[in-house]
Amino acid sequence: MTHDKLETLPISRDTFAQLEIFKNVQFEKLAGFLLDSKVIEAPTGTILIDPDSSEQKLIILIDGSLEIKLESKGGIFSNIIKPGHCVGETAIFNNIKPSGVVTAKETSHVLIIPANSAMAMIRASHELCLNFLQILSQRLRSNNQVVCEEQYHIRCMEEFAKVDPMTGLHNRRWLEEMYTREMARSNMGNFKLTAFMIDVDHFKRVNDKFGHLAGDQVLISVAQTLIKSLRPSDMPVRYGGEEFSVFLPGTTTDNAKIIAERIRQNMENTNVALPDGNIVPVTVSIGFAERIDGDTVVSLIDRADKALYHAKKNGRNRVCMNAGDEGLILF
Ligand code: GH3
Ligand code: MG
Ligand code: MG
Repeated sequence: MTHDKLETLPISRDTFAQLEIFKNVQFEKLAGFLLDSKVIEAPTGTILIDPDSSEQKLIILIDGSLEIKLESKGGIFSNIIKPGHCVGETAIFNNIKPSGVVTAKETSHVLIIPANSAMAMIRASHELCLNFLQILSQRLRSNNQVVCEEQYHIRCMEEFAKVDPMTGLHNRRWLEEMYTREMARSNMGNFKLTAFMIDVDHFKRVNDKFGHLAGDQVLISVAQTLIKSLRPSDMPVRYGGEEFSVFLPGTTTDNAKIIAERIRQNMENTNVALPDGNIVPVTVSIGFAERIDGDTVVSLIDRADKALYHAKKNGRNRVCMNAGDEGLILF
């Protein structure tokens, strides 16, 4: 290429050499392809690429910064392009319309190369191909990381949705999933499984006498006492309001009776101290039932609930077992 022509090029040899996309690329080898390219100054917010434009071009950022935004199914993904890197290459490689919008995040200088020239440059230089591969790999890697982080956040949100924020216990949403799974496991392997239904006695009076916030405090305390009274493999849930359920895998009725009585006693011994100095005594009633063949989560909980109702009717602060045909047995 003659000296005259070099002077009409949109970028100097020095600028060319500083751009990562042209690393190890001989200026003379590609300069001829740049004759129909141009450098423009893009003020902040300038749209450089949008999916509606039919013109395909490779944009190389000389200085400043660009943002790529992809919108799909209500989700937005954005990426920042740094100097020396490019945008628009995937549309050129795949010969399709651009999938995102590229804007200048700040006043930026960009080299705009028409698609035909860009493809000709790529064909002419292995080094340029390698640089493209490196830059695209970096972008892929960082995009993968974003996807992994997104999935992690989604998983966290899903977990949060299964926890009752006040007591920290799992909620009904978790129960649906985990109790169903445990029920299926026990039914298949014919394992022991016992369900507890626990209800705070005269809780309305606590709210009426000490206020709703004090009531909340009592529920938090009840949840903590419940957790302390159980094994890690037990499955306590805030069933709703002042009611709690527990699935106890591998527990016989004899053991269930001991555990239920321990919970009842621990609750009785838990006097909740309020910030204003008031002490709130707490008792609970507990009904329990053992899994039988063909049980569902609903049928087992229903039998435990009947025992709970019986414990309530018979004075509260009591444990009752639903022994099926043998009836409701109070302890
Ligand atoms: P019983 O011994 O028959 O169970 O009587 P109870 O008063 O405990 O039962 P009832 O069902 O009449 O009242 C339950 C009360 O629990 C009513 C409701 O306002 C209260 N409650 C439910 N959820 C919450 C909560 O998150 N915080 C507070 N402070 N109160 C709650
Ligand atoms: Mg109650
Ligand atoms: Mg209740």
